[in-house]
Amino acid sequence: MELTVKLEILADAAKYDASCASSGAPKRSSEGKDGIGATSGMGICHSYTPDGRCVSLLKILLTNFCIYDCQYCVNRRTSNVPRARFSVDEVVKLTLDFYLRNYIDGLFLSSGIIRSADYTMEQLVAIARQLREVHNFRGYIHLKTIPDADPDLITAAGNYADRLSVNIELPTAASVARLAPEKSVHTIKLAMGAIRRKLDEKAQGPKAPQFAPAGQSTQMIVGADASDDQVILATAETLYNSYKLKRVYYSAFSPIPQSPASVPLAPPPMLREHRLYQADFLLRSYGFQASELLPASGGNLALDIDPKLAWALAHREHFPLDLNLADAGMIARVPGIGLRNARRLVELRQLRQIRYVDLSRLRCSMKKIAPFIVTADYSPANGAAASEVLRRSLATAPQQMSLWTELKAAA
Ligand code: SF4
Repeated sequence: MELTVKLEILADAAKYDASCASSGAPKRSSEGKDGIGATSGMGICHSYTPDGRCVSLLKILLTNFCIYDCQYCVNRRTSNVPRARFSVDEVVKLTLDFYLRNYIDGLFLSSGIIRSADYTMEQLVAIARQLREVHNFRGYIHLKTIPDADPDLITAAGNYADRLSVNIELPTAASVARLAPEKSVHTIKLAMGAIRRKLDEKAQGPKAPQFAPAGQSTQMIVGADASDDQVILATAETLYNSYKLKRVYYSAFSPIPQSPASVPLAPPPMLREHRLYQADFLLRSYGFQASELLPASGGNLALDIDPKLAWALAHREHFPLDLNLADAGMIARVPGIGLRNARRLVELRQLRQIRYVDLSRLRCSMKKIAPFIVTADYSPANGAAASEVLRRSLATAPQQMSLWTELKAAA
């Protein structure tokens, strides 16, 4: 099979994996040194997630043959799709060729499981080793690890890759057992724990050998099982706390050709994935707990308003908030004020009182923040308005997509 045909098949098969953003890699450049590549700089994006997001990594599978039969996966054993397999040398050559043409910033490499978890992992490690040791490649490498593989192989992968990821795939052990019976959440968590221990060792001893400097991440598929957003966010929170993950990626389930009856025929709304990313950001950066965003009784995030606004509307006892008195953490919880602007406001009030105009100078969304703040010269007329009224005025109006307008624009 020609290399270009393999590339077509294996790049297409990799698009279902969302966990490939390269954020978090340390700055590394070959400028003035031996070798090629850098983790920063411009590249042409050639990988797409199912919703069309573009990332500048060569994102491929080593192979889409797989001995497992995960029901939600297009590459499962019983799937009727064209199959292909790269050799180690082919992936190395493609990565270098694409890099030298400035098409990519690095490599995202995953694989179906061939022969055994160990055999597959050995191949992935061999690619990363060749790139780093033989070709002195300094670009970004993200390796998807196979949880059942020998821990020594996972350690070896971390010696070469910037980021490792182990996909949890589904938010509950019951869903994994039902839809991916050959996988085990226990094994997946053992692999995450092994990576975390190596990362901790590196953090304690600056002289310890380099290990996955951009940390580890995982992916959860949204909408392949009946888990609601509360379950998904609670799982994400546990993973962040237990394994120090850099990121949990959420991938809206994409129905696959001839999919089994055990998975839905229709995808979840794409906005659901977006709201989960927003809520995830609140967990990672704003100090929110999952239980603040959704009650333990369950449920999904609202689609018409973002999770921070939903929280503020449900906790009117904190608002309107006096920006001249509140701490930075609480200011950052005001809808429409981000972390950076919260810090700027606290710095500013060391010089003088905060006034309404300061917020528009900081380019805050005035319509959004107005009902929630008090400044030296402003208090909201609608501060006591019912949450439902505020919600109606702040919600994004649903838009009916028009097929004809799109067609006209394309013509
Ligand atoms: S192991 Fe990975 S590639 Fe294989 S069927 Fe499961 S999800 Fe798909």
